Amino acid sequence: PKRLVLVLGDQLDLNGAALKKLNFETDEVFMVESIDEAQYVWSHQAKIALFFSAMRHFARSLRALKYPITYIENTPLSIVDALKEKLQQDNIGRLICIEPGEWRLKQQIEKLASELSISLEMCEDDHFFCTHQEFIDWTAGKKELRLEYFYRLMRKRHNILVDAEGNPEGGQWNFDQDNRKPYPKKGPGMVDEPVLFEPDEITQEVIAFVKRTYPKHPGSLEAFRWPVNREQALEALNYFVEYRLRNFGVYQDAMWTDTPYGWHSILSSSLNLKLLNPREVIAAVLTAWKKYALDLSTVEGFIRQILGWREFVRGMYYLDMPGMAQDNYYGHERALPKWYWDGKTKMACMKDAIGQTLEYGYAHHIQRLMVTGNFALLAEILPSAVCDWYLAIYVDAIEWVELPNTAGMALFANGGRFTSKPYIASGAYIKRMSNYCGSCQYKPDVRYGENACPITTLYWNFLIKHRTQFESSPRTRLMTANLKRISDEDQGHIVAHADQILTHLDDL
Ligand code: FAD
Ligand code: SF4
Repeated sequence: PKRLVLVLGDQLDLNGAALKKLNFETDEVFMVESIDEAQYVWSHQAKIALFFSAMRHFARSLRALKYPITYIENTPLSIVDALKEKLQQDNIGRLICIEPGEWRLKQQIEKLASELSISLEMCEDDHFFCTHQEFIDWTAGKKELRLEYFYRLMRKRHNILVDAEGNPEGGQWNFDQDNRKPYPKKGPGMVDEPVLFEPDEITQEVIAFVKRTYPKHPGSLEAFRWPVNREQALEALNYFVEYRLRNFGVYQDAMWTDTPYGWHSILSSSLNLKLLNPREVIAAVLTAWKKYALDLSTVEGFIRQILGWREFVRGMYYLDMPGMAQDNYYGHERALPKWYWDGKTKMACMKDAIGQTLEYGYAHHIQRLMVTGNFALLAEILPSAVCDWYLAIYVDAIEWVELPNTAGMALFANGGRFTSKPYIASGAYIKRMSNYCGSCQYKPDVRYGENACPITTLYWNFLIKHRTQFESSPRTRLMTANLKRISDEDQGHIVAHADQILTHLDDL
């Protein structure tokens, strides 16, 4: 009997677990471009265009290989409703798919299968090093879930940067301390730009469609140059390891105006759509390490992001959903300032990070964590509103990776389930790591008053407000130590000024 093989927009690998099961004689592939899905999350136009274009390219490859396929373009139905219609129309009793990267969709597909009484084979996504079961086993009996120990296990288990005895290459597991430098005073100098791809015919058609269908959605399509198929993703990977990886480590945390990509790989969207497999990315990095005699600290730093963080947050997502989406440890309730959607703010750092996000659908990790994320935490914004923004606005955003990073890491919304303390910083950190403050009307070192940097004011206000909690733990005690150097009178001014800011966030 016929089986339907559902391929979702972020499962674009010809060797994917579900496609491997396809019987060319009897089965059929099913793909849906759902307008509803793109609207369910108020997405950046470039994110919608990337998904649709990559899906159409993938469908073209499948057709060229003679796969039987039904591809539904631009349906107003949701993915699940379109799937239901297809299963019913063709009277199909068996469905195969890879587990979706979004908990909601996984539940909906399971519900549909039971409602229609069809058999569902949901394969685990093998584009990850760690299976769900392995992650659950690792968490068993642990009081604290920390990236570092998980990462070491992954290194050993997959024999990556370890010697024959299982010791870390270079005698150290982690070279993070070497990877936190700002750019030189004069700026990053010549950065080798990443490879960017001119939109081909399919992409141009999709771009025109997105402009017509989602004119009010945020973001621009003018700079759309993302890899949309496997060949382009491989080219981007090869270029990165050959020319850009060498400077990735040192300047990983650095920020500079008009430098949207720095030395980052911008491979996340290709990895998340499964145009690339993380195993081949790590293999390419290890080959480049030897071939170009790269620093171990750079290579380790990059591998930690993929083998460590990427795997870790995925494990946490499936472990903690659905609760993770509702977590609100501090009980924050404020609305997201309007300028998150148009970049119109006087704060130079936020303007730059949001501006490039609207232009490209991209910002690098420190911009997401320590600029837009830090502000959202200090400004006491409702976590789910912040998560909606991150899910909407980045081309690489899929819930399994966006939510733990935003709710868990940036907002501390789960009370530190996998981070030891909130990632908060004052304007001084942004001043050290960027050139933003030089062109800002606010002053990073001023704590209250007209010229005060809102981030600095809100930082001290946050520490004053949560002083007791911070002092109760040895991990956070140091953060409040500096409060002792601020007089009670000045602390009063900070709190008063912070109140003023918090009630007028849209005016910043
Ligand atoms: P690089 O800096 O070149 O890093 C290499 C790769 O490592 C990335 O491509 C990515 O696959 C992986 N990686 C690095 N850091 C992380 C991390 N913290 N979690 C998971 N993988 C990581 N990443 C997404 O892919 N999708 C998201 O929706 C997303 N949302 C985020 C939201 C917040 C608030 C924060 C703080 C981080 C978020 N990240 C997300 C993680 C990270 O910022 C991006 O993966 C990274 O900026 C992508 O750019 P890049 O490919 O140039 O990464
Ligand atoms: Fe950002 Fe404050 Fe610096 Fe302005 S002064 S750029 S708001 S950190």
